[in-house]
Amino acid sequence: MGTNVDIFVIGGGINGTSIARDAVGRGFSVALAEMNDLASGTSSAATKLIHGGLRYLEHYEFRLVHEALAEREVLWAEAPHIIKPLRFVLPHHKGLRPAMVLRAGLAMYDYMGGRRLLPATRTLDLSRDETGRPLKPGYKLAFEYSDCWVDDARFVVLNASDAADKGAAIHVRTKVSAVRREGDGWLVETQGEAGAQSFRARLVVNAAGPWVDEVIQTALGETEKHHVRLVQGSHIVVKKLYEHDRCYFFQNGDGRIFFAIPYEDDFTLIGTTDRDYRGDPAKVAITPEETDYLLAAANEYFASPITPDDIVWSYSGVRPLYDDGASAAQEATRDYVLKLEGEAAQVLHIFGGKLTTSRRLAEAAMEKIEGVLGRKGPAWTGKSTLPGGEFEPLAYAAELRRLGKDYPQMPPKLLARLMRQYGKRAWQVLGAARSPEDLGPHFGWTLYGAEVDYLMDQEWARRAEDVLWRRTKVGLRVGPEEVARLEAYMATRGH
Ligand code: FAD
Repeated sequence: MGTNVDIFVIGGGINGTSIARDAVGRGFSVALAEMNDLASGTSSAATKLIHGGLRYLEHYEFRLVHEALAEREVLWAEAPHIIKPLRFVLPHHKGLRPAMVLRAGLAMYDYMGGRRLLPATRTLDLSRDETGRPLKPGYKLAFEYSDCWVDDARFVVLNASDAADKGAAIHVRTKVSAVRREGDGWLVETQGEAGAQSFRARLVVNAAGPWVDEVIQTALGETEKHHVRLVQGSHIVVKKLYEHDRCYFFQNGDGRIFFAIPYEDDFTLIGTTDRDYRGDPAKVAITPEETDYLLAAANEYFASPITPDDIVWSYSGVRPLYDDGASAAQEATRDYVLKLEGEAAQVLHIFGGKLTTSRRLAEAAMEKIEGVLGRKGPAWTGKSTLPGGEFEPLAYAAELRRLGKDYPQMPPKLLARLMRQYGKRAWQVLGAARSPEDLGPHFGWTLYGAEVDYLMDQEWARRAEDVLWRRTKVGLRVGPEEVARLEAYMATRGH
């Protein structure tokens, strides 16, 4: 028989969950299947910026930059817990365009961005400003501009949570194995934690990211199609390189760029690389050449040498870009492309996109979907909040103070982490507990049973890695013994 829905979404990355959320909020019935954990694909492997993409100006991607810049404050207001403003310092050197040209580019960035709350670009004298201190001598002039930071994996989970709160069915660890036309709709077959299931859908959205062609080929049986260009990007996380809270945006003489970003209080995130990838997206991993490149690139700028021993973690992902035939990986368009296919029954394939433009991508997808299924409700996400984000962007510090007042016996580090991750839902995670002893078993760092229970009950966490590396980044702080205890706890608890 199977469940009947209007829309079946394949893929629980940022694009699939954003479309599911938007669609269910407009009144469509929606089911989503994710073959692994939510955000286990590209959406947890990003540089984690909500940004216009200064570099894309150089590639004349004005539409993308304009849309992305405007999204910064929309998304910050939507999720002021997992998104925060950041200042980027771009040191000038003689391998770059002349300072005047850079200043003009940044003025354009400010102007196109429709800023309200984010501070404007300014010029820095690195011989006086503290951001000059960790750098090698010789850097004098820098530009400082605004963009935002996002916890990418939580961005996905919160979109899924909001979709579920509004009535969407989210199936994790459930793979779509076949999609067949049946009359004027589709029969979707899945295999997963609930065994074999089937769904009847009026429209299918293929948001499988790097696997989008594989879904077209294997699930839909259209073996000739090839649209996606996989571009690998890797990051390293090292022990904190400097004390201040600003990021560096470095551009090498060869045009390649990378960031050094304060990360999880005690670390610095360095990335990314940009190279074509032809392997299995599930097996993508940083290569020794990428590690060498990132270390060498960072050592060009920072005064204290960074060595392989400083690396505490690394991760790698593939951008599922639309194959526009560009010759260099860095030049392939970052813009999204939506393709509606079929006559009686239609499928919408999603290519490319960014975390930054995911909400707008979902709106564009809805326009196409409504062209097929008819209109049910207005666009609504532009002035919405994601779960836990129901406070003003500038009220973050006040919310954290309020949490501290309500839980005076809880360690400040725990409260700070919970506020950043859960916002107003931090109160739900802590519940009636007064002190850490009331929070159940301790799994290292600031992770206790109460939070693990919350993640299993409310956020589809099934395995230790879901908790340690996607719902939180506590994985950076715990050892194998604590991981084994967490795994055992989650296995006995079940979901
Ligand atoms: P994914 O997140 O990969 O989601 C697709 C999902 O589909 C996967 O979870 C997969 O398991 C699932 N799936 C596949 N096949 C099936 C099936 N048969 N059944 C069920 N499920 C299936 N964007 C920004 O805005 N800012 C940045 O700073 C930024 N930095 C980046 C840095 C790097 C190195 C990379 C690689 C990307 C970066 N991006 C950034 C881009 C952004 O991360 C991606 O565009 C986005 O995450 C793609 O999301 P997605 O939903 O299309 O794909």
